Amino acid sequence: MSFVIRCIDCGHTAPYFPTSTNCPRCNSQWREAEYDYDAIAKSLPLQLANRPFDLWRYRELLPVRNANPALTLGEGGTPLIQAVNLGMMLGCPNIFIKDERQGPTGSFKDRQAAVTIAALKEAGITEMVAASTGNVAISYSAYAARAGIKLWAFVTSLVPAVKMREIALYGSQVVKVTGSYDQAKQVASEFARQRNLYQDMGARTITSIEAMKTIAFELAEQLTSRTVSHPPGNGKSRSLWRTPDWYIQSISGGMGPLGISKGFLELKKMHLIEKLPAIAAIQVDGCSPMVKAWKDKAETATPVTSPRTHIETLATGDPGRVYPLLAKRIQETHGLFESVSDEDAFRAMHVLAKMEGISAEPAAAVSFAGLFKLVRAGIIKSTDTVVINCTGHTMPTEPYILGDNWARNVVLPATSMEETPQEGLLAALSRVAPERFPHVAIVDDSPEARRLIRRILQSQGNFSISEAEDGKQAIALIEKEHPDLVILDLMMPDVDGFAVLDALKAKEETASIPVIVATAKELTPDEKGRLSGQIQALMQKGDFLSDEFLDEVRTLIK
Ligand SMILES: [Zn+2]
Repeated sequence: MSFVIRCIDCGHTAPYFPTSTNCPRCNSQWREAEYDYDAIAKSLPLQLANRPFDLWRYRELLPVRNANPALTLGEGGTPLIQAVNLGMMLGCPNIFIKDERQGPTGSFKDRQAAVTIAALKEAGITEMVAASTGNVAISYSAYAARAGIKLWAFVTSLVPAVKMREIALYGSQVVKVTGSYDQAKQVASEFARQRNLYQDMGARTITSIEAMKTIAFELAEQLTSRTVSHPPGNGKSRSLWRTPDWYIQSISGGMGPLGISKGFLELKKMHLIEKLPAIAAIQVDGCSPMVKAWKDKAETATPVTSPRTHIETLATGDPGRVYPLLAKRIQETHGLFESVSDEDAFRAMHVLAKMEGISAEPAAAVSFAGLFKLVRAGIIKSTDTVVINCTGHTMPTEPYILGDNWARNVVLPATSMEETPQEGLLAALSRVAPERFPHVAIVDDSPEARRLIRRILQSQGNFSISEAEDGKQAIALIEKEHPDLVILDLMMPDVDGFAVLDALKAKEETASIPVIVATAKELTPDEKGRLSGQIQALMQKGDFLSDEFLDEVRTLIK
């Protein structure tokens, strides 16, 4: 295995050693690993067939000489999950989630920790320092514990207490710094200098950038195996690997996308892919120095000294040199920087959990809020294939998104002589949920559309829902059940939505039931005229994500 470390400022190459952090010629700390891509391109695709699907299957492209199986916790090899419901909701069927929650400590930082700790162990290092907004320190702590390396973890006092306790649980020394993340980094750096300890240098850490590349490798392999008859790694073919049109990730310091874009570039150098995906890097409005620099076309980012966000994990105020490096990469891929509000992120987190069964941490939800924004702006097209990085725990965030009433209590009364225990239970349960929920009838000939509307309603509250798959069935159902609200499709064979509406309005018992028309069709002025005064709202089918739809539903059933 051969690789060198090349200085990105003067081009000087040197062998790799973890504690050598500066270019021997120009003293720059910005250097990159470089491999023999031609040789690896020839051998790697054949090797892959015989290797397990984990991070180390790309070992020829990692700066560790001998991967030590004793240190592994099963890093990498996370699933790529198709977000079918989100896809329907957004009108973009090809949305995939790279589920980094399934790493050993639940975040994509596990890759960084696995590779870095392996390299440190190989170099005989026994103590290290890292500053973190939470997840990095948790990952490093787990791997450091396994490798017998002592970790000094510098965190800001704003890092949620549960995260701090987890760091301490692994035996790391937690050092709480009352100040910003950038200040915590400075304190950590000074501590490491005084004690002459190895220090994690963020995006300047060779192993960190290299580890992040494996996300690019994995998702290209995974996308290919879904769509090509001879997927990579089957030892038979040399067909090209597939890349998405977009790769979306939320960023704090920006190391993730910097490493992942290097991964895609290496695949291109090895002629394993043709096209680089456009990279979208998403920040929170309250701490978005890179987005501001991008929109202002500035060469460097002006640091944000007091980040204003609840999403502490993303509160890197000063991206330093990562910005120009990442901006160049993003420009080359025709990608972009964008920001979203905390509220958008919390909403996206809720939508993701309810629509896809995936509970991400707010930092990851920022990328989903970014996805929604880019789709709505028409920047991401309905035919695009999109991969989103998803990571993290949700524990510390419940107060922000759920309020205080997220659980209902069942308090069983003491059994009295007159009451059997069952009666007490029934009485208690009746307080958990009212006996009757608002009744909504969904009329649509497409089963997918019915399922989507049902899912959106269910995710927002308690409804009793009936469905009709054509106009005739709809009229019978509404006459029999008298729902509180009808959600009606227009384009159906035989008896269409207009005919259903006419039938309802013709009868006194059903004439006053509110109707929301949901249609994929652009209506002609004549058709609009037919609906006028007959319905409560007209929604385009791609609009279901909007709060307007749910507000409308809530208003009508009150
Ligand atoms: Zn140099």
